[in-house]
Amino acid sequence: MSNHQVFERILSEVRAIYGDGLVPLHRPTFSGNEKRYLTDCIDSNFVSSVGERVTEFENRIAEYAGAGFAIATVNGTAALHAALQLAGVKQDDEVITQALTFVAGCNAIRYCGAEPVFLDVSLDTFSLSPDAVKQFLETRAEVRPGGTYNRKTGRRLAACVPMHTFGIPGRIDEIVKICRDYSIPVIEDAAESLGSYRAGQHTGTFGMFGTLSFNGNKVITTGGGGMLLTNDRYLAEKARHITTTAKVPHGYEFVHDEVGYNYRMPNLNAALGCAQMEQLQGMLDTKATVAARYQSMAATLGLQLAAPLEGDTSNFWLNAVVLSSIAERDELLEYSNSHNIMMRPVWRLMPHLTMYARCYQDGLRNSLWLEERIVNLPSSVPETPLRA
Ligand SMILES: *Cc1c(COP(=O)(O)O)cnc(C)c1O
Repeated sequence: MSNHQVFERILSEVRAIYGDGLVPLHRPTFSGNEKRYLTDCIDSNFVSSVGERVTEFENRIAEYAGAGFAIATVNGTAALHAALQLAGVKQDDEVITQALTFVAGCNAIRYCGAEPVFLDVSLDTFSLSPDAVKQFLETRAEVRPGGTYNRKTGRRLAACVPMHTFGIPGRIDEIVKICRDYSIPVIEDAAESLGSYRAGQHTGTFGMFGTLSFNGNKVITTGGGGMLLTNDRYLAEKARHITTTAKVPHGYEFVHDEVGYNYRMPNLNAALGCAQMEQLQGMLDTKATVAARYQSMAATLGLQLAAPLEGDTSNFWLNAVVLSSIAERDELLEYSNSHNIMMRPVWRLMPHLTMYARCYQDGLRNSLWLEERIVNLPSSVPETPLRA
């Protein structure tokens, strides 16, 4: 089959799933109590950060993910920033992360005055490679009384931020184990992986903190929103404190005991989140059906489609094919987008962005290879029901 014939087959499968007209990459689904809960907020005047929906949404997420505690924030980036602060990341520290990721995590590292250290991802999960972390720490790290230091730069290695790309769980258990040997706290960027499990355990619950995002393009949305997950009661209390302007409880006075952030999720957004949570399982089931259809298409065409590792569960947030070259990738992107079907390449690698170009990177063999070949396929919950 020619490339063109393969692309036609991909597009006709997208049309079979999503129908005619413009097919977005990922659109939100509001088919439950969204309007009712929003109206209730407005009618009760509780639209801002004080209101019952925020706590309810936190409880629902904590219970769903099997996390001890959940703290709602205005967005996922704010959750990452707060988590890094609480993990003790300071000016001139270094933070290990993956080069193939969305920019939010790197920005949050910089908000703390720290520098990202870019390591490679695994070819099969697109997420931080435990081998790369091991290799880096074995050759560079020195454990001293005050922390683990990078021998080459003299800077402290203050945290590690792996990310579960497109909802596919990474080898987070292995990363946490390696980092524990060096006393480096792990903050899991689980923004894309609500509903994804590594060997039965929900992503975002392995490290010191996990962070979620409820941006409009994620599996469920609150308009804008995020969440911190932790199993540590003390850290949860600290997180709640610094994300609510570090206000000390008092009957009427305004007392703040440190520099805090106005990061708490408003009640309006949480109301939307509560309605979305009622539909999460249904959305995940439908997304799994979409993924299965893409999977069987890929098998007949001899294409490689991203899939979770044996024993893991993906939320199938965004499906991704891995093509054979950058030329083929660009051909498909050109062809699909000119036919009103939104597909997109993966993010530019972080060290390819000007503000992160001077950061350390480990050679990034897999990341560079994937950067040229990944194409995301439309992955929303279809408006009309699907046959398996
Ligand atoms: C969406 C996303 C975030 C957070 O995004 P916000 O828009 O701030 O909620 C962080 N990391 C990754 C990998 C993401 O995909």
